Amino acid sequence: MKLKGVKIKLKPNESQKNQIDTNINLRRFVKNQLLNMQQTRYRNGGNYTSKFGMIYCLKALKIEFPFLRQAESTCLEYACADLDQSYQRFFKNQNDSPKFESRKRPHNSYKSKCINNNIQVVDNHAIKLPKLGTVKAYGLNRINGRIKSVVVHKDSAGIYTATIQVEHEPVELPKTNKQVGLDLGLADLVIQSDGFKLKNKKFERSLAKKRHAWERKLARRRLQAKKKIEAAKKSGVELEWSSFKNVEKARKMVAKINRKIANQREDYLQKYTTQLVKEFDLIVMEDLKTKNLMKNKRLSRSIADSSWAKIKTMLQYKCDWYGKELILVAPQYTSQNCSSCGKNTGKKPLHIREFTCPHCGVHHDRDVNAGINILNKAFA
Ligand SMILES: [Zn+2]
Repeated sequence: MKLKGVKIKLKPNESQKNQIDTNINLRRFVKNQLLNMQQTRYRNGGNYTSKFGMIYCLKALKIEFPFLRQAESTCLEYACADLDQSYQRFFKNQNDSPKFESRKRPHNSYKSKCINNNIQVVDNHAIKLPKLGTVKAYGLNRINGRIKSVVVHKDSAGIYTATIQVEHEPVELPKTNKQVGLDLGLADLVIQSDGFKLKNKKFERSLAKKRHAWERKLARRRLQAKKKIEAAKKSGVELEWSSFKNVEKARKMVAKINRKIANQREDYLQKYTTQLVKEFDLIVMEDLKTKNLMKNKRLSRSIADSSWAKIKTMLQYKCDWYGKELILVAPQYTSQNCSSCGKNTGKKPLHIREFTCPHCGVHHDRDVNAGINILNKAFA
């Protein structure tokens, strides 16, 4: 049995919204407490506390902070698992050390485990969730199979969604006896060893104008509101930010457009990766280090970074589902070596898109050559 995630839209009532917010806040509180504990132990020369050690600490935390009992309890255990995972990646040098989570994160979420059917589809428009009871929801018809867990998300526009983890038995795809190496780029997001190039589509262009207009409106409205708050303060009146409905509206519009862009991009990558596993039995790509990703200040680079990471994750589970293989290789020298004779042709500046190998005389497209080298590395 494999797992798949089904995303649904939630329409919680006011008290359910409060409970979701409580779960999110207390999960973050627990994670930060445990992180602080780990860091203090480390400074005092102590050992790392394992996932189970941290789950054990929850008991003590619940006694010290009785309000933790207001949270759905399994989401606090997942906070321990989550922190442990960040630490494990850090120990393997794949990540920076775990950081404290700020309440200003645009996306907030928590995960709950399904125990004794406490996550259950009630009918087409309602789902039972732990500690929330029956919540109105859309998209429930896609849930078929045993439910294992749920991740509840709240985005910066105050939209609630949930990803339901469901067991399913995927049917293996027919074998094609074909293999491919993927090189990653910027203008072309992916360059395949067979010459196909996946364009880094600029979805934003159509929506960018709209987003830009709302971003400007938001900045202007914020400034006006700030002035009013300050003026009111001088005359002794306290004005709340939440009383400026137009600021809130602009903020929600920006978030809505951003969500739309992200959805389009996700869809594009889903279609591409599905096509890949259909066409090839073996897919080879470079092993991305998340540590090096997300650090680039340039927008185009950061979008490409996150797209590559998504492609890797999608290929990992799709290959697993459909009986195909994904091999991750170290990318060293893949752009320098000649894929025909294997000799190193030296470093080349980025503007050189094609070159002829001085050793064997074969002419190469720079990126396709790298793709072939990546494929060959899987057999080395
Ligand atoms: Zn050569």
